[in-house]
Amino acid sequence: MLEKGKIYEAVVTDYTAEGQGVAKVEGCAVFLPNAVAGERVLLRIEKVGKTWAAGKITEILERSPHRINRECPVAKLCGGCDFWHMDYEEECRLKAGRVRQALNRIGGEALETLPILSAPTCHGYRNKAQYPVASKKGRAYAGFFRAGTHTMVENDRCLILPEEADRVKEIVIDYVNQYHIPAYDETAHKGLLRHIYVRRGAVSGQVLVCLAVNGRRLLHGEELIERLKAVPGFTSLVLSVNTRQGNTVLGDEFITLYGPGYIEDTLCGLNFRLSARSFYQVNHHQAQRLYEAAIAQAGITKDDTVLDLYCGVGTITLIMAKAAGKVIGVEVIPQAVEDARDNAKRNGIENAEFFCGDAGEAALELGAKGVKADVVVVDPPRKGLNADAIEALARFAPRRIVYVSCDPATLARDVALLKDRGYRLQNAMAADLFPRCAHVESLVCLSR
Ligand code: SAH
Repeated sequence: MLEKGKIYEAVVTDYTAEGQGVAKVEGCAVFLPNAVAGERVLLRIEKVGKTWAAGKITEILERSPHRINRECPVAKLCGGCDFWHMDYEEECRLKAGRVRQALNRIGGEALETLPILSAPTCHGYRNKAQYPVASKKGRAYAGFFRAGTHTMVENDRCLILPEEADRVKEIVIDYVNQYHIPAYDETAHKGLLRHIYVRRGAVSGQVLVCLAVNGRRLLHGEELIERLKAVPGFTSLVLSVNTRQGNTVLGDEFITLYGPGYIEDTLCGLNFRLSARSFYQVNHHQAQRLYEAAIAQAGITKDDTVLDLYCGVGTITLIMAKAAGKVIGVEVIPQAVEDARDNAKRNGIENAEFFCGDAGEAALELGAKGVKADVVVVDPPRKGLNADAIEALARFAPRRIVYVSCDPATLARDVALLKDRGYRLQNAMAADLFPRCAHVESLVCLSR
């Protein structure tokens, strides 16, 4: 049994899904933040669980050649990024390894290697920022949460965000402090401003500012709009009414104070409208490459009907429309479905249809109505496919299933379930859409 507070020597052998290092000490897995695989370290045990322990590196005895000096001054504190302490080569190696291991262990595959689409840059790649707002000695400030807490870390310039996002943050904070607009206090459930949300079109440069507020009104809103006009590309200011207690950033009601309430952007040659509530991949360059790979793997012909489940604003659906006979998208967020329908129109696409609802339920209904699908694309949230979605896929029995995933473990679980339903893994790859962060995207193609 490991002892809390005691120092042990160990070698970091692997990484967890959250990007922490793993070292085995006396048969027990010890999780270590800021570790690089291959390093021999002295570690102090901070917490002992039944089958695991949490530790901290106190000294690096043998340093990995992949360890680098952190470029971001708050990297160690901020919960936003995980990997500023290693080079990008090691980060890609660990991400590809995680997807491969999941497919092997959970998916029953025996992959020896797995390619990864690595990103050309780790800087300024995010097109969306969400800053929580808090107050200290009566003054509001914005930053990011410390990992696993709601304690805030301030940072003037976040390296993975575009400068425009940080500029918006500064302007909003100056404005709320000048007009004494109270920051939201989550313990007391009082105050107004909860989050500053910024979305910027990578190609269009258009900027949408959305303030998540515990209320329905913003005093001196006109003044804020005037100040935000100094941000290049500023297009829209929206309030998102969120009076609930809890962690969700945006509420369900949106009030547009300036501009159209959405931005436009170009992706894979098509023009998209994006509302605040709609999902849009945060790394534009890498999303394009991922979607291009997905289309190549789908092997669509003009006679095919393609079903795109969890379609968001219809990105993949509409990009595939040109090659297909017909495309059908299903998405649960009404605003995103409105965006998707508008996106079909604005690109002159007439062979696309969108439904709002749970992907699994809607797919079962479509099947019951006699709709056939030759190729199905799924891009679910982290929890993966539900039983209805798996059942619907089995009944449609498409020639190919293209699965875009943001969680290798649920992807691998679903691959195993689909193999039981007569599918075979044909192709698998990882894609890095979140450089310096532990999340990894993957793409697999299954054929019947
Ligand atoms: N394929 C799109 C969106 C992928 S993100 C793109 O790449 O842009 C996953 C999407 O699934 C989100 O838009 C989310 O709102 C939606 N979603 C979540 N749960 C769902 C469900 N049960 N049924 C349908 N869509 C769902």
